[in-house]
Amino acid sequence: MDCIFCKIVAGQIPSVKIYEDDRTFAFMDINPRTDGHCLVIPKKHSPTLFDIEEEELQAVMATVKKTALALKQALNPDGLTSFQLNGRAANQLVDHYHVHLVPRWAGDGVDLRHALQAGDPEKIKATGARIAAAFSK
Ligand code: AMP
Ligand code: ZN
Repeated sequence: MDCIFCKIVAGQIPSVKIYEDDRTFAFMDINPRTDGHCLVIPKKHSPTLFDIEEEELQAVMATVKKTALALKQALNPDGLTSFQLNGRAANQLVDHYHVHLVPRWAGDGVDLRHALQAGDPEKIKATGARIAAAFSK
């Protein structure tokens, strides 16, 4: 299957991984809305919330919670936006279920409707390493 996130899980294309377990995978978004923007996905391919099995969804949500705590520990944001899009009408670009986690700072002025902008790969890697290191704490 020609799915970019399945390829990331399989290691066929590179990503900045921050966490992985049997069912889920978390990695940095390459077009970060803020420093620390990351994605949590099931390893098993499901396009949307409509398709994903309950068990997979629960595993993703458990990892979303762990990732939120790691973000808090590593970056000490003032807040956190989590969101998840389904279908073109909702602006979903990658058809493999994923939850966005976007750390927020008071007055950051971020508008999540804005077009994507590529981040600095070195900065994404460095922030990813800090988040990854915060998982076990
Ligand atoms: P959406 O499907 O609109 O919820 O968003 C897809 C997200 O995946 C966007 O925020 C992209 O920046 C992100 N994205 C696309 N390709 C990659 C990739 N190879 N590595 C990391 N993030 C990606
Ligand atoms: Zn996939």
